[in-house]
Amino acid sequence: MKIFDAHTHLNDEPFAGKTDYYLQRAQELDVLEMAIIGSNKLFNQTAIELAQKYPQLHAVIGWHPEFANEYNLTAEQELIAQLQLDEVIAIGEIGLDYHWPQNPQPAQQKELFARQLDLAEQYQLPVNIHTRDAFADTYEVLKAHQPHYGVIMHSFNGPLTWLSKFLDLDCYISYSGVVSFKNAPDVRAAAQNTPANRLLVETDAPYLTPEPHRGEQNEPGFTHYVAAAVAQCRQETLEQVAANTWKNAHEVYRLNEKN
Ligand SMILES: [Zn+2]
Repeated sequence: MKIFDAHTHLNDEPFAGKTDYYLQRAQELDVLEMAIIGSNKLFNQTAIELAQKYPQLHAVIGWHPEFANEYNLTAEQELIAQLQLDEVIAIGEIGLDYHWPQNPQPAQQKELFARQLDLAEQYQLPVNIHTRDAFADTYEVLKAHQPHYGVIMHSFNGPLTWLSKFLDLDCYISYSGVVSFKNAPDVRAAAQNTPANRLLVETDAPYLTPEPHRGEQNEPGFTHYVAAAVAQCRQETLEQVAANTWKNAHEVYRLNEKN
């Protein structure tokens, strides 16, 4: 069995210096390929470094809305240069986050989001979307831009009404450990109702640890448990979900074309 972690932060602090250890553990749980996600200057750089060192890791780089204040022309030029590297497969995580009052103002977040959607068109890359307490604006910005190279809604946690709106925009829907939580009936219903050809699984490690490890630090190998929880929602086998999400990840990230 082969499982693809569509969104993980193996480039983040808790995993520093222990990449081989966590890749080994992931392999034991059948998690064989991953998208490593950046969010600012430092994490974009470390995502690329991992992808350059390990063929099974790929870099997704971009500027998360929470760092909008640090984004300037210099940052954009660096991002543009990095987007042209072979190891970079998508722009992310980008989007809107209205959850934290200390985050940059919505107008500034939207401008950063829009600029990066323009870059995705220009460089023909898919986008990995973070949205928190901001479904309506995220939907409007995406609808206005109509990205042509693939959209992934990361750690989707909305009700069925939003699921169908993002599916109308032809988005891929990626589920994290939240789908394994008993107190998340909305997410479980969404996982059940996502078309097989739009389904992805991810850890978002070190965050959002799935059952049965909830309370511990998350790690990429735990995509195994996310896939198992998704399988349970859909009354499918783990093997079916693994094969299906592996195929979808390769499709949206265009990994078949590269290999
Ligand atoms: Zn993330």
